[in-house]
Amino acid sequence: MAARRTPVLAGNWKLHHGPAAARAFFEAFLAAYPERADRRVVVFPTALAVGAAVEATRARADVQIGVQNVYWEAKGAFTGEISAPLAQEAGATVALVGHSERRALFGETIEQTVRKVQAVLAAGLEPMLCIGETIEERRAGRAEAVVAEQLQPVLWALSGEQLGRLRLAYEPVWAIGTGMTATAEDAQQMHAAIRALVASAHGPEAAAAMPILYGGSVKPENAAELMAQPDVDGVLVGGASLDAGGFARICEAAPA
Ligand code: PEP
Repeated sequence: MAARRTPVLAGNWKLHHGPAAARAFFEAFLAAYPERADRRVVVFPTALAVGAAVEATRARADVQIGVQNVYWEAKGAFTGEISAPLAQEAGATVALVGHSERRALFGETIEQTVRKVQAVLAAGLEPMLCIGETIEERRAGRAEAVVAEQLQPVLWALSGEQLGRLRLAYEPVWAIGTGMTATAEDAQQMHAAIRALVASAHGPEAAAAMPILYGGSVKPENAAELMAQPDVDGVLVGGASLDAGGFARICEAAPA
């Protein structure tokens, strides 16, 4: 039997919390959530608050700070962008790639997500790739096909060693910021399908080791049921991660 995957509790602050709010958040969160060796916390602040977040969590080995997006080039005339090496220099260790808001609002293509995952890996960070279908795609019976279209080009572009540093987050677009969460059964079904895609590209051992998080209106009230599913290895939390006490409750809800 495969070793148990360490649960990952991730918070995506989107365009909220500057440096002062980040410091206040971590003062409250770290007091409410004492260090635990059996789970890992990752917070994705705005790029401008990464430095403050890294400083505030320096004493906590169980808490990592990430960035919400990177450009695929390391440097150059790309006004307004941030790069993976600069994120690494600022103390980030993880980078979100392909969040549905990047895909829908900023036109990020599947080909661009592949380039970003490769840039993140090259800089020594862990990419957390977000994949998920819209409500129209789900109603048309295309949910698993859409997720495969988003995931397979990334899987095919990576070596086995690189794949070991990839993390996945299944985030149905219709569940993000809507209050509509996937049922635990629907989440489990999609996570199992995603794990099967990893297995067919890189083998069963790589699939068994792959952390697959669920995201979409996760709250303290529904986190435990979602994470009790065998293929749900944690949660990626948007709105509910802005509140230190609520996010601490979500972190405690992962199975021990
Ligand atoms: C997200 O932004 O990744 C997310 C899942 O948001 P929310 O929890 O607010 O639905």
